[in-house]
Amino acid sequence: MNSSLVLVVNCGSSSLKLAVVESKSGERVIEALAERLFTPKASMEIRSQEMGETRIGLSDADHGQAFEVFATHLAAEQELNGRIIAVSHRVVHGGEYFHCPVLVDEEVLQKIEACSGLAPLHNPANLQGIHAATKHFPGLPQVVVFDTAFHQTLPETAYLYAIPYGLYEQQQLRRYGFHGTSHHYLMLEAARRLGQAVEKTNLLTVHLGNGCSACAIRRGRSVDTTMGLTPLEGLVMGTRSGDLDPGLILHLLEHMGYSPEETDELLNHQSGLLGLSGLSNDMRTLEESARTGNRQAELAIEVFCFRLAKSVAALTVSCAPLDALVFSGGIGENSVLVRKRTLAWLEPLGFVLDKQKNEVHGEDSDGRISPKNAPDVRVIPTDEEVMLARGAVSLIAGESP
Ligand code: ADP
Repeated sequence: MNSSLVLVVNCGSSSLKLAVVESKSGERVIEALAERLFTPKASMEIRSQEMGETRIGLSDADHGQAFEVFATHLAAEQELNGRIIAVSHRVVHGGEYFHCPVLVDEEVLQKIEACSGLAPLHNPANLQGIHAATKHFPGLPQVVVFDTAFHQTLPETAYLYAIPYGLYEQQQLRRYGFHGTSHHYLMLEAARRLGQAVEKTNLLTVHLGNGCSACAIRRGRSVDTTMGLTPLEGLVMGTRSGDLDPGLILHLLEHMGYSPEETDELLNHQSGLLGLSGLSNDMRTLEESARTGNRQAELAIEVFCFRLAKSVAALTVSCAPLDALVFSGGIGENSVLVRKRTLAWLEPLGFVLDKQKNEVHGEDSDGRISPKNAPDVRVIPTDEEVMLARGAVSLIAGESP
């Protein structure tokens, strides 16, 4: 196999992210992002090494139409002609069916469809991407990589909810966990930086983007994580509440006249940092507002960090003795303040921050932001696209994942 270029496809509910990735180096030959699909403002931005930057209006386009525009653009890239060897799709929910990347066939499509009830915003969009790519690239292997797959090693003790067992057996109501591709990448990269074999490495990886989750990794396997049946459980996120008393949901439904749809909207789209601050779901905006004295912004950041520290402490029971605590995602990689506040809460567990290294995100020390004599804490940028590309290449080459 001479080329190792893979087209990586990530379909959100109203967005489409595409990239041609060189799977060995991780280099992006082309990247495209289509946003606000299904609205008059839909548009796509393409950045290509060969052809520079292009912005295209896509008024009211769906995923299929956006994909078509990209495919036409790709065909004009002389350099890439015939060099892409596979398409790799991110699929959010794989239920209990999938624990590694697989090639798309009828049965796989049916199983992704069967998991749509558990991820109604994501899996149908992911299927759209698979159908569009199959149409435009019929000769290429289509591979799917699941957000849930890395967490399929969770033990029963971590994945069962304490509800009647029949609901797990008959309806598969259990904890699945998400962001698996990111946690998997962080595990490999952390082990590499630590100079240790993955299967001997114990980690706590924290992915803080718009969605946030943490994962306990014991000897190279995910053994607990903060997200559950859906990506709503766990940490405080941009617009999602994370953990709350299920009684609160009953209260909304029974005593406050909320419908299931309104409750969904409240907890998934109006809560988290946005709900607490009444201002924004964006950590950068909140930090700026907090600096100028906005009390609600300050409170939202404080709740976010406290809850994160509490979860890290809880996850430690599954992965002590810890080789490293890893911060990643847009917030984890860039927010000096969030790392500082979170580690301050974790001082009783022995965590210490090197203030200067934290200021530069550990860039001068392989990501390390704690002193040598304290538990290892690192900042490691995540790369889900490269994992998708590598997953596809290994599968095609017949390597075990
Ligand atoms: P997504 O989950 O959509 O991929 P990202 O991983 O890009 O999101 O993370 C987005 C979050 O990262 C936003 O809350 C954003 O404000 C935050 N972020 C990015 N840069 C900074 C920064 N310099 N300081 C604080 N927060 C930041």
